[in-house]
Amino acid sequence: DSNLTVRELAERLNIAETEIIKSLFSKGIAVNITQTLDLETARLVTEELGVLIEVPEVIAAATKQTEMLDAKDLEHLQRRPPVVTIMGHVDHGKTTLLDSIRKTKVAQGEAGGITQHIGAYHVDVEHNGVSQQIVFLDTPGHEAFTAMRARGARVTDMAILVVAADDGVQPQTREAFSHAKAAGVPVVVAINKIDKPDANPDRIKQELSELGLVPEEWGGETIMVPVSALKGENLDTLLEMLLLVSEVEELVANPNRLGKGTVIEANLDRARGPVATLLVQNGTLRVGDAIVAGGVFGKIRAMIDDRGQKVEAASPSFAVEILGLNNVPSAGDEFEVYPTEKEARLIAEKTAETQRNSRLQLAMSSRRVTLTTLS
Ligand code: GDP
Ligand code: MG
Repeated sequence: DSNLTVRELAERLNIAETEIIKSLFSKGIAVNITQTLDLETARLVTEELGVLIEVPEVIAAATKQTEMLDAKDLEHLQRRPPVVTIMGHVDHGKTTLLDSIRKTKVAQGEAGGITQHIGAYHVDVEHNGVSQQIVFLDTPGHEAFTAMRARGARVTDMAILVVAADDGVQPQTREAFSHAKAAGVPVVVAINKIDKPDANPDRIKQELSELGLVPEEWGGETIMVPVSALKGENLDTLLEMLLLVSEVEELVANPNRLGKGTVIEANLDRARGPVATLLVQNGTLRVGDAIVAGGVFGKIRAMIDDRGQKVEAASPSFAVEILGLNNVPSAGDEFEVYPTEKEARLIAEKTAETQRNSRLQLAMSSRRVTLTTLS
C-alpha cells in the first residue's frame, strides 16, 4: 500500500487532484479525492508522468543507493541503469569476462565496433522484450571499493563475483565478498571457466555456501551463473540476471537537475589537457556546464563516450570522458555542476584550500609523532 490519498499524491506530484482522477478514469478506475491508493494504482499515475512514486521503500532504496539524492529530487525520480563492478581472485577471469561482454555486445549492435578506453562501458541487453542498459566499471573491483570506502561514496550498485570453477574460493574471493557485503552491494556470482575439463561448479557452490553465499537452487538467495568468459558461453544469462537484480533494487535518480557524481579516472593528456571520466549519479551532465571536480573546475568543452563518440549529454548511471578542466582531479573525487563558471571557480578554490590544509595537518601530525618518538 502506498498509504497516499489522491489528494496527498497530487500534492507530492504538484499536480491538480482532478488530473489524477482523470488519468485513472481513462484507465477504467474510478477514485475520489480522499481515497487511499494502493501502490499499483498510484504507479499507473506516476508512470504516465514519467516519475517514480514516492513511497517509503523507494526512498529508502534510493538513499541507500547514493548520497547524491536531495529531498527535492524525490518527486522526480526515474529509473536508471545499474552500475556494475567485476570482482574476484587474480586470474579467475575478470578482464576476460569484461572484454568478452564488450566484444559480443559491440559486435552485435554497433557499426564500426571500435571501443575507447574510458574506464567504463555501456552495454545494451534485451530483457523482458525491451532493450536495457548496464554500465560496467573497468576499475578493478577492490580498488573501486577501497576508494569508495575512503571517501564514503557509493559508485557501484552491484558486483559480479568471478570464481574460477577449476580453482574455487581463494583469499581475494573472500575479500571481494566482504567488501561488497560491507557496502551493502548485491552480488551475482559468475562461476567461470566451465569449459575446462577439471571444472567443478558444485564444489564452488559448496565453498561459496560456507561463505554465506548460498545458491538459489539450494534454497539460498544468491544467483550463480556458470559461464565461460573465454568462449563467451552463457554471458547473456549473466547479463539478464544483473538486470533482474537491478529491478529489485529500484535504482533511481533525478535526471532533471544539474549533474553530479564521481570521478572514475583522470589523467593529463599531452594533446587534450586534463581528461577525466565521470560517472553521472544524479542529474544530467551537458557540454558547456560549469563543473567542479574535487579541487579543480572548468567548463565542459567536449564529452566522449565509450565508443569514442562525441555526446552532448549524459544522464544518470552513464560515464563519459570530459575535456575542459583546469587541472587533473583524483579518482574518487565528487563532481558537481554549478549554475555559473564563477561559482564553480569559487567552490573549487575553497575545496582545494581545504585539501591543502588537511594535507598540511597530516604532514605536521606525522612530524609530531616522529619528534615525540625521538625524545
Ligand atoms: P583476471 O586476473 O581475473 O583479470 O583474469 P584474466 O581475465 O586475466 O584471466 C586469467 C587467465 O584465465 C587468462 O589466461 C585467461 O585466458 C584465462 N581464462 C579466463 N576466462 C576463462 C575461461 O572461461 N575459460 C578458460 N579456459 N580460461 C579462461
Ligand atoms: Mg585482470
